[in-house]
Parts: sequence; structure tokens; C-alpha cells
Amino acid sequence: MTRIHELLAAGPTWSFEFFPPKTPEAEMALDKAVRELAPLEPSFVSVTYGAGGSTRERTRDIVTRICAEQAFPAMAHLTCAGQSHSGIAELLDHYAAHGVRNILALGGDPPADGSDPGGEFTYALELVEQVRAHPAGFSIGVAAHPEGHPRSPDRASDRRHLAEKLAVADFALTQFFFTVADYAAMIEDLADLGCTKPVVPGVMPVINVNGLRRMVTMNGTALPAALADRLDAVAEDPDAVAAVGVEVATALVQGLLAAGAPGIHLYAMNRSSSVRAIYANLGRLPD
Ligand code: FAD
Repeated sequence: MTRIHELLAAGPTWSFEFFPPKTPEAEMALDKAVRELAPLEPSFVSVTYGAGGSTRERTRDIVTRICAEQAFPAMAHLTCAGQSHSGIAELLDHYAAHGVRNILALGGDPPADGSDPGGEFTYALELVEQVRAHPAGFSIGVAAHPEGHPRSPDRASDRRHLAEKLAVADFALTQFFFTVADYAAMIEDLADLGCTKPVVPGVMPVINVNGLRRMVTMNGTALPAALADRLDAVAEDPDAVAAVGVEVATALVQGLLAAGAPGIHLYAMNRSSSVRAIYANLGRLPD
């Protein structure tokens, strides 16, 4: 099974992110999205891990199944909030035994009620180190936040911690954002810190205005006023919102590739339509 840092070395990569569904209907929607996106021949896909390990088995089973059934690798997200070293070791052994070779090692967010998630890890770097020590030789990705992590006291310290993580990991994927300059500034800051590992920008085609507002608040992402106005004007029309999302995401992808991004990671939200529309705009849809 291919390791993502090797794909990036031959880049640019094109990848899609999914989340584990909660209902049988949502499971069918994910299967349909994977079926409809597979012909686009992504370099890899990734599957999120619910806060505090709430989707542990579902994430594991989806990643293992995609790796077994598809021509492209699936990367397992893994968060450390509320987790134990032995629980993580067990999951890594399962992945190793089933041919999974790519792990996105994340901090995870504390519970929304502000309670302490417990667990044996504090920062993602500790999880990166445990994954690195595993004999399977996983390719390891980490999270990057172009606008700075919302819990960081300042951007400079966040950049230093990112560079420390990347010194041990192989590559990073970013949180979604809307301005190419924020990505370019992060790459420059990392270079100043001596870090040149690939950082793949994450691009989210907007499909729902309320959902977007919740996410930008949680992630500390700046929502440009002009984009907010355009989305608010069509907020009650899902097709019009998706069309704006595709147009904005297409322009962002073009800008990021022109700025030298080593790949593009699209937040597919378990649907194929926006991703396929972006591919069509870019002239990348297969005949
Ligand atoms: P960390 O690297 O631990 O950083 C968290 C904060 O601590 C930052 O402010 C950092 O600057 C600071 N910090 C780091 N090290 C130190 C140190 N030594 N001393 C002091 N401060 C330090 N969440 C999920 O729950 N499931 C997912 O599947 C998921 N997938 C994601 C995918 C991507 C591409 C991204 C970008 C995020 C994803 N997240 C996911 C969200 C992520 O878990 C949160 O953003 C989380 O708050 C931070 O994760 P991190 O890996 O950056 O943590």
C-alpha cells in the first residue's frame, strides 16, 4: 500500500476527506460518494476520527475496507484527546495487519462542555512519536492551521509547534481557509524555521451556510465579508449555495497550485457533486 509522503514526492496529490456515517442512510450516501469519486483516481482519501475516539471502530472499518477494495490508499485520522497508549497501539497493530500505511496524527478537540477529556496524551506530537515508533513504518501526516490554531496564544508559537511536529512527521494537511496569502505566509514562516516538509492545503466547497458559520467559529477561520454576503443572499437555496461553494473552491485551488502547493485535499463531506464540479471546472473530469 502506497505511503503518502512518497506520492507527494511525485506530486501534486489530489485527495478527498470523508467522515464515518452515523445512520444506515448516511452509510449508503458515503458508499455512493466513494463509488462516484473513485473514477477521479484520487492519490488517497482520508477518514476522520470522532472526538474522544467516538468513531474508533467505524473509522477503522471504513479505512480498512477502502484500502482493501479501492486502487487508492485510505489514511486513518487518529486523535489523542482522551486516548491511552495501549488503545492507540492496538489500533496501529490492526492497521498494520490490514495493509493501512498512512496515519493523520491529531490533537483532537476537548469536549464542547469544557470538561477534561482525560487520556495519556496532551499534544499531537506525542501521538506522532508513538506512530513513528511502530514497526509498520507508517507515513505520518499532521494538522496545520494557516491562520493559527484557535487555542494558540499567538501565531508564532503555533508555527514553532507545527515545525516541531513536522520534524518527526512526513507531511501536513491544513484546516480549510479562504485566502491563498494565509497559506503562503504559513509556508514562509515554516521555511524560516527550517521546515520544508510538504503542507497540503485543505479546501472546503461550502454546501451549507449555517454549518459553515459553526465551523469558522470553532476553527477560527476568517470568512471574507464578500463571500459571506454572497452566501447569505442565497442561503435558503441549497443548489445556489453549492454553486457559490464550487466557484470559490475552484478559484482557491487554482491560486494554491499557482502558489506551489504540493497537492490539494478536498473536504468532500461524503458527497461527490461539489468535488466533481470542481474537477469539471479544472478540466480534470475523466471522459
Ligand atoms: P496539536 O498539534 O496538539 O496542537 C494543539 C494546540 O496546542 C495548538 O495551539 C498548538 O500550537 C499547541 N501546542 C502544540 N504543542 C505544544 C506544546 N508542546 N506546548 C504548548 N502548546 C503546544 N479533529 C478530530 O477530532 N477528528 C479528526 O478526524 C480531525 N481531522 C482533522 C483533519 C485536519 C486536516 C485538520 C487540520 C484538523 C482535524 N481535526 C480533527 C481537528 C484537530 O483535532 C483540532 O484542530 C485540534 O484542536 C488540534 O489538533 P492538532 O493536531 O493541531 O493539535
